[in-house]
Amino acid sequence: MTPITSFRGKTVALFGLGGSGLATAHALKAGGAQVLCWDDGEAGRKKAATAGFALVDLALADWSEVSALILAPGVPLTHPTPHWSVLKAQAAGVEIIGDVELFCRERKLIAPDAPFVAITGTNGKSTTTALIAHILRAAGHDVQLGGNIGTPILALEPPSPQRIHVIECSSFQIDLCPSLNPSVGVLLNVTADHLDRHGTIEHYASIKERLVRGSQCSVVGVDDDFTRAIYQGLVSSAARVTPISTVPNALSGCIFYDCGKLMRQGEIVVDLGGAKALRGAHNAQNAAAAFAACDWLSVPAHQIRAAIASFPGLAHRMEEVGRIGSVLFINDSKATNADAAEKALLSFDKIHWIIGGKSKEGGIETLRPLFPKVTKAYLIGAASDDFARTLEGALPYERCETLDVATARAAREAASVGGEAVVLLSPACASYDQFANFEMRGEAFRDIVAGLVARAQTRG
Ligand code: ADP
Repeated sequence: MTPITSFRGKTVALFGLGGSGLATAHALKAGGAQVLCWDDGEAGRKKAATAGFALVDLALADWSEVSALILAPGVPLTHPTPHWSVLKAQAAGVEIIGDVELFCRERKLIAPDAPFVAITGTNGKSTTTALIAHILRAAGHDVQLGGNIGTPILALEPPSPQRIHVIECSSFQIDLCPSLNPSVGVLLNVTADHLDRHGTIEHYASIKERLVRGSQCSVVGVDDDFTRAIYQGLVSSAARVTPISTVPNALSGCIFYDCGKLMRQGEIVVDLGGAKALRGAHNAQNAAAAFAACDWLSVPAHQIRAAIASFPGLAHRMEEVGRIGSVLFINDSKATNADAAEKALLSFDKIHWIIGGKSKEGGIETLRPLFPKVTKAYLIGAASDDFARTLEGALPYERCETLDVATARAAREAASVGGEAVVLLSPACASYDQFANFEMRGEAFRDIVAGLVARAQTRG
């Protein structure tokens, strides 16, 4: 845990008692603050009370003694409308910040030169964060990995000059962190997302920009209009910045992807051929970002290369979960919308595609140009009627209702194709109609595949 001492002897209001909220409460208490905890939900309040924290209804509290409101990132700060606790704090003239801001202030107090890598972007944050941490660990560093992925930032060990914090930051966390100043900042990409919480894409992009503006050096994607403009702005202000791209790019010092390799100034930086967990151009963007970030931290290139090749990948994101003969089984359960499923379809051929669940607006219509890569689709869950209408006449498909039926059928038919084939769970849907979350769906798929592999081994 990182005790937060900047509010020692002061009273702090804390709204939002999920995982990161409770970690914040513990860190503030350990640093000597008095914490007034509240949440609109009974479950969060119960957890805090069980952990021994004072529950105070902030709607009725006296704010005159409160030094700051620490807001959980899931709670609306500006859009669609500010949460009532935000309005209360504003009326009392109390600053509103989040857990990453508390971390930055503590770092400034106890170890201002402690290495701190912060990663953001609309897509690829978790993969890039995990990859950077993997490379740094392989190079022998003491690494603390967390933030928006896994462990809340204040539950990690405190910053120190010998320890590198590798932190995934969502736009909500950046919005609550006015003094974000990582040693290395990474901005991958900006596409329309979370606009309900940020109003406009311009506002969303300007929040993402803050992370790299505050960085000592940075890595910025240049493949969309927003990140390209942000990159140009950094160059104009003489910042130390490495551009990265998923296509050949002539910008000075750019690390770009071309034919399976990362290149810079006419030289091969990394051959991604051996990196099984980083298939596809989108993962090349993540790998380029990780290479550039570790380069800023002076990790030798040969060590970065070796670690990229041995990266195991993250569960449920194009994760290889089995092979029977020439048929590969890929778990991409995290693909809960068409945009994410597109990345998987682009990465394979002869695809036996398991698809369905609770569909999102627009369904899979945007994926039509990729249908030629698919041999057959196997429909599961509530979206079956919807998807069958899109696939009719374009692609062979079968209604399988459940994941086990779909996987067994797809495995049998993929084996009969001859040559390399892929059984791909990339559902382009939320899981809630049949599973508690995408993780449970992915784990169910992994278990089904393990059963099929074991049976094939017994037979074979
Ligand atoms: P995040 O943490 O930003 O949600 P993840 O690394 O968990 O990102 O990846 C989630 C999904 O987003 C992946 O399954 C893939 O479909 C897609 N994705 C990953 N990296 C990128 C990228 N650099 N650009 C676009 N899409 C990506």
